[in-house]
Amino acid sequence: MNAQTALTLQFAPAVPIPDYLVGEIRSKLAYVDELILSAEVSPEQITLHLSHPGAEGGLSAERRSEIEEKVQRVVLSMAKGAIKPKIQILEDHLERPVPYQADPMAELIARDEISQEAQGVFSLGPLLSQLIDYFEGQFIALADSFGAQPYRFPILIPARYLERVNYFRAFPHSLSFVTHLREDLQAIDQFSQQAACDEHGLQAPPDSFAQIQHLLSPAVCYHLYFALADKPLPGGQVIATAVGTCFRYESSNLVSLERLWNFTMREVIFVGSKDFVLENREIARLRMAQVFERLGLAYRVESANDPFFIGEFRKQVAFQSAFQLKFEIRARLPFAGSTLAVGSYNYHQDFFGRNLNITLPDGSPTHTGCVAFGLERIAYAFLAQFGFDPSDWPTEVRDYLQEHKP
Ligand code: AMP
Ligand code: ZN
Repeated sequence: MNAQTALTLQFAPAVPIPDYLVGEIRSKLAYVDELILSAEVSPEQITLHLSHPGAEGGLSAERRSEIEEKVQRVVLSMAKGAIKPKIQILEDHLERPVPYQADPMAELIARDEISQEAQGVFSLGPLLSQLIDYFEGQFIALADSFGAQPYRFPILIPARYLERVNYFRAFPHSLSFVTHLREDLQAIDQFSQQAACDEHGLQAPPDSFAQIQHLLSPAVCYHLYFALADKPLPGGQVIATAVGTCFRYESSNLVSLERLWNFTMREVIFVGSKDFVLENREIARLRMAQVFERLGLAYRVESANDPFFIGEFRKQVAFQSAFQLKFEIRARLPFAGSTLAVGSYNYHQDFFGRNLNITLPDGSPTHTGCVAFGLERIAYAFLAQFGFDPSDWPTEVRDYLQEHKP
């Protein structure tokens, strides 16, 4: 039997899965067991597609029940007693007519516009790069309209920083770790002689690597909060902007340009009093609504929650919904009949101010918020709605690409 022969496991969830949790639970099942290749989830049924390591006669009954038991644990902790969050819609332009209906991936591949290095890791060609530059221009104009200070942040983030903001508990599944060889002549010699890649990845002596002290950064604004930590906030308020590469490991959910392991985010970040942060978040939303209207983008802005890991999920989602902490800009993907988050408007209350000891002039913890745009996603959603023929594009996008032709 082939080592990758697919195997299907089907059973009913321990409690019915409400419609609004179907997608969330399906994406979490990718992390439940290494044998799970993909999962289909409906309120009454779960189907797992498994690989198995080539043993004759397939998977043992023991192993099957172990996987089912882990899946049921996820279902119970996320769906049992879950309360449907009220979705609040702030802008609804989902039905704006757009000229393109096809899946842009096929065309992007045909034009050599993307080259996949690994699952969720892509190089982008000139068209996508220029579209990203165009959208970057819009986001930088937004930042400028606030007089935001520019920053450049590292891609590495110290483990102890993430620990301080509870990241290991909230999003352990998406972490990406960094290490290096131990400073030890023998370890380095052995590595240089033995390191080799096989189909599973890099094989090296297990004691080659130093203790993990850094990770790849999952967000941009955290770096600003760490730079401001443990002191009074200068002038009582800060508005900053930065673009950065971010990393979120999304396992088998990494498909097409929709979901990447490494992606780029532009953020405008507000730090100050509660009113300062909330008012500016709202001003940013209204300014971006004008940009999207000019372009004729089909999208909606609606309340959302972060993809917390299973243990934290119910509590945190209820919390984010109750306090309207996150709104997503969801662009229509006409070919899929679905939407994709291309950006978000976030308010963290005084979470970072409290945990990182950033204080306002009256000594109370500062509040923070950010507006974040996913650059690969906005370019991808644009192509999904407007296609590849520039005569179908909004004039200002067409003009920008014409003027910036290499
Ligand atoms: P978030 O901080 O989760 O609201 O992320 C901000 C934006 O970054 C999202 O609205 C997406 O556009 C983008 N983004 C987040 N995760 C990914 C990913 N795995 N792949 C591509 N873009 C992403
Ligand atoms: Zn942020």
